[in-house]
Amino acid sequence: MIKITSLYIHIPFCSIKCPYCDFTSIVLLNENIYSKYTNALKKELELYKNLDFEIETIYFGGGTPSLLPPHLIGEFIVFIEENFKTFKNVEITIEANPNTYRYKELREIKEYGVNRLSVGNQTFNRKLLKSLGRDHNPESTLQMVEDALKAGIENINLDLIYGIQGQTLKDLEYDLEIYTSLPIKHISAYMLTAYEGTPLGKLVQNNQYNLPDEKITTEMFYIIDEFLENKKFYRYELSNWAKKEYECKHNLAYWTDKYFLGIGVSAWSYIGNKRFGNTKNIYEYMRKLEKGEKPIEFEEILTEEDKRLEKIMLGLRLKEGIDLSLIKNKEVLKELIKEDFGYIKENKFSLTRKGLMVINKIIEVLI
Ligand code: SF4
Repeated sequence: MIKITSLYIHIPFCSIKCPYCDFTSIVLLNENIYSKYTNALKKELELYKNLDFEIETIYFGGGTPSLLPPHLIGEFIVFIEENFKTFKNVEITIEANPNTYRYKELREIKEYGVNRLSVGNQTFNRKLLKSLGRDHNPESTLQMVEDALKAGIENINLDLIYGIQGQTLKDLEYDLEIYTSLPIKHISAYMLTAYEGTPLGKLVQNNQYNLPDEKITTEMFYIIDEFLENKKFYRYELSNWAKKEYECKHNLAYWTDKYFLGIGVSAWSYIGNKRFGNTKNIYEYMRKLEKGEKPIEFEEILTEEDKRLEKIMLGLRLKEGIDLSLIKNKEVLKELIKEDFGYIKENKFSLTRKGLMVINKIIEVLI
């Protein structure tokens, strides 16, 4: 039975374009377009009405969804609930820039059902925020956390970026102290990556920006993992730590092979044996939906072998690991365990910290 349990909604608008960002986002501050775009989203969702939904998680990602006036987010949630089978305790996340929603707006989205807030903080270090090209300051994040709690949203994630040029281990510890002193439930920590085609990618290529070497980023990961575990944030995925029972259900759905529908520009979906993605061009996206056409740009059929490989690649990121039955080469497995790259628990193979640092190489030898 093909049941779709997760719905992703991409909101591509941002107030600035961060130099390291490779998400589909455009700088656009225009409420008229926001409203047209959410109408297009509704049209797209209607085209999937014949599918079997039992929605457990809804995720507004971006871009910066919190640039939208709260009523547009709210009306969209109402539209989903009126037209699709949705669970009573559905997890509804919205990504937010610290400069946007305050108590009034957070209260409004909470009343519409949003119960999880993911804040793009990245660091509390002013100098590093500037070097990342972010447009907020530490105070705006603190204000947003305070307002969210007051509005009744207690499931809060803060993003953290490490491996920034000039960031010392002391800087990182300073951040971790502040993160863990806040009443938040979840921390996503990502290593800064210089993606090709981004301004940061070009700077790195031209030796104008120095990313720390692998030895330092590995040390940073160990510090983060140890520090957070000591403060009772448990790592459940390579880049994600949460207080008990506050793991992000939506992201877990991606990593545990559940079916999801993604709508909006550049959004991806995985349903049955099909994976497909939408156009990245917002105007083409809206034009196609105006004509009642799906804005799909890419589609592929996954074989059973593709699915097995995918399960290994995604599952190894998880603390829970992968089912032993997925691994054909049991000899390699023995070697990996001997070298302390992984371990077996309850019929599952998981990576140790050491293993996680070379996850891509391990995937290569396991598949
Ligand atoms: S706010 Fe987020 S989505 Fe927007 S440009 Fe910056 S990193 Fe990218």
